[in-house]
Amino acid sequence: MKKIPLTSVTSGLGIEILPDLYCLSVQIANVCFIGDPRQTNEFILIDAGMPDSAGLIIEEAKNRFGEDCKLISIILTHGHFDHIGALQELLEKWNVPVYAHSLEEPYLTGKENYPPPNKDIPGLVAKMSPLFPRHSIDVSSNLHILPPSGKLPSLPGWEYIHTPGHTPGHISLFRENDRVLIAGDAFTNVEQESLY
Ligand SMILES: [Zn+2]
Repeated sequence: MKKIPLTSVTSGLGIEILPDLYCLSVQIANVCFIGDPRQTNEFILIDAGMPDSAGLIIEEAKNRFGEDCKLISIILTHGHFDHIGALQELLEKWNVPVYAHSLEEPYLTGKENYPPPNKDIPGLVAKMSPLFPRHSIDVSSNLHILPPSGKLPSLPGWEYIHTPGHTPGHISLFRENDRVLIAGDAFTNVEQESLY
């Protein structure tokens, strides 16, 4: 899988958003670890980063949850290349369920590629988007489709919200009691037309 010549200045840095929510920046994507390391060595991963980032994600998991850390499941906000880049390598280490929305299923089972991007809309990211890999991967042996109820298996207190647009089956994750939201690519806080 080819890489793209873009990175964030925060790549490789992690931020503890809450005691049980840690976000790691991986080149241009974010991976979130859910689990409180003061209470458990088990964690759930939201998204699976860029290609070639499995080593970084595993190292960060060990730093946070200990050498014997245990991944319980992976929940994908969607299946774009920068969210599934390390997925197959992570599944080789931890053979766990992968959860995604039913409308992302064709892109996670090798059935369909994402449609070509529209490079004519303004912004650097749009201009570069034809370079982005958009082919489907096949993780069907681990894939589980999320229940329509909005409940997230093994994440009590959290729900998912279908937030299509960026991709057909894009989801965001929400926890009512502290109103924390993991928005995936449904939200951006950088200027898409600026190189910096
Ligand atoms: Zn995306």
